[in-house]
Amino acid sequence: MTQETDAIASVPTGLFVGGRWTQARRTMPVEDPSTGEVLCEVADADPEEAVAALDAAVAAQASWAATPPRERSEVLARAYALLLEERERLALVMTLEMGKPLAESRGEVTYAAEFLRWFAEEAVRVDGGYMPAPAGGARFLVMRQPVGPSILITPWNFPMAMGTRKIAPAVAAGCTSVIKPAAQTPLSTLALADVLVRAGLPDGVVNVVTTSRADEVMTPLILDPRSRKLSFTGSTRVGKHLLGLSARTVMRTSMELGGNAPFLVFADADLDAAVAGALQAKMRNIGQACTAANRILVQREVAEEFADRLTRRMGELPLGRGVDDGVVVGPLIDRAAVEKVDGLVRDAVGRGATARLGGEPVERAGYFYPATVLTDVPADAEMGRTEIFGPVAAVTPFDTEEEAVALANDTPYGLVSYVFTRDLDRALRVSEALEAGMVGLNQGVVSNPAAPFGGIKESGLGREGGFSGIEEFLETKYVGISVPA
Ligand code: NAP
Repeated sequence: MTQETDAIASVPTGLFVGGRWTQARRTMPVEDPSTGEVLCEVADADPEEAVAALDAAVAAQASWAATPPRERSEVLARAYALLLEERERLALVMTLEMGKPLAESRGEVTYAAEFLRWFAEEAVRVDGGYMPAPAGGARFLVMRQPVGPSILITPWNFPMAMGTRKIAPAVAAGCTSVIKPAAQTPLSTLALADVLVRAGLPDGVVNVVTTSRADEVMTPLILDPRSRKLSFTGSTRVGKHLLGLSARTVMRTSMELGGNAPFLVFADADLDAAVAGALQAKMRNIGQACTAANRILVQREVAEEFADRLTRRMGELPLGRGVDDGVVVGPLIDRAAVEKVDGLVRDAVGRGATARLGGEPVERAGYFYPATVLTDVPADAEMGRTEIFGPVAAVTPFDTEEEAVALANDTPYGLVSYVFTRDLDRALRVSEALEAGMVGLNQGVVSNPAAPFGGIKESGLGREGGFSGIEEFLETKYVGISVPA
């Protein structure tokens, strides 16, 4: 217990504005979802306090843009090293505020750190262009410049990695920012800000606002003409609303929104690999990932065998507090999440699905739902259209490749799709036909800081990570130069 208390006590709880930690007029509680108990209180900013954070970002913009790329890079590189050095403490904080098992939190701290490393490398690679005008008489000089003060808004499910996936490219590109983490998981972002300070980040380059009133506090910042970029990760519903607000000042936006990932298993697949991939794609983060396999579609010849093996593996996963050894199924984020998952399962079973495993909420303190496998989930079940966001595998058979692709694409979302097959022609044909920003081909995880992460359709706009990640924080300026013959 002392270790848990010490980890929480190590995190600053104020607002981080202009390089200083300040107390807000109000505070809000942070809960441990595995017990329902309050861990600590953090600042609960009001609109005026949030505007002060934007003022600080605006004040620091010109000097940060003028800071040599190598210096920007070195701050990120030092932060990368510190994050890894302090991984145990940071992972414990993450597990306490969000619930995921410690092993997954350690993995997320490493994943978060890798964005710092990747963008430390990218900071010094921003280039431009020079070319003669096709008709002669002029030259084109193309330069890339930081877009300017940016608003970054992150969700609770990956509380640190979603932060570094935005902060690192912003810092690398020469943009200052105000970041607002989710009200349920502010501690990982606050701890990250503390690391950035110790890594030498100058005052005002990154500012942190925590608040329980996201709409009231963030709307003025988004509408402020000094904000030049909004990078949002969260639900499609909130993303659409924020796109509407951003339109008023024609602000640049990146939107990483919800998903409804199909997971296709063809009869020719390596079934062991497909089951292992489904476990990863379903159970990572206790099913609370935008990339979670929401609809598992299995070719009829192997559907029964696949469901048996998946049920056996999911039945072996220990449930409990994420801090306890060996636990895989931690709590969901809150009571509403348990009720939502429970409602989706009841709806599917009511329409004819079979519960092979689980299917009822767990009676204990905290917000637990057990690993659940449903088979023969009918097409009209609500979970086919809605992100389950819980440890529930919904398995449905299909007959032909055409049917599988049609089912997979029958959704307004387009974040990621998974395909398991050993047939190379089919692998390429199906990967091309799937309407998704990312495809996991014989693998159950697509997240990688060096790859362009993002969706199409209602799953979002723009890409984070990879070579594209820094582009989201750069403007292109072209200078036409008269060069008479
Ligand atoms: P959410 O409810 O949309 O919230 C996301 C963030 O937006 C939180 O910080 C939230 O603050 C804030 N917010 C809510 N309403 C706002 C408003 N009117 N103005 C400004 N900010 C506002 O999503 P969530 O439940 O935290 O996260 C789960 C969703 O995120 C899922 O749909 C998941 O698929 C998606 N997600 C997508 C990706 C991706 O890369 N595509 C990655 C992870 C998660 P509060 O916490 O105070 O409400």
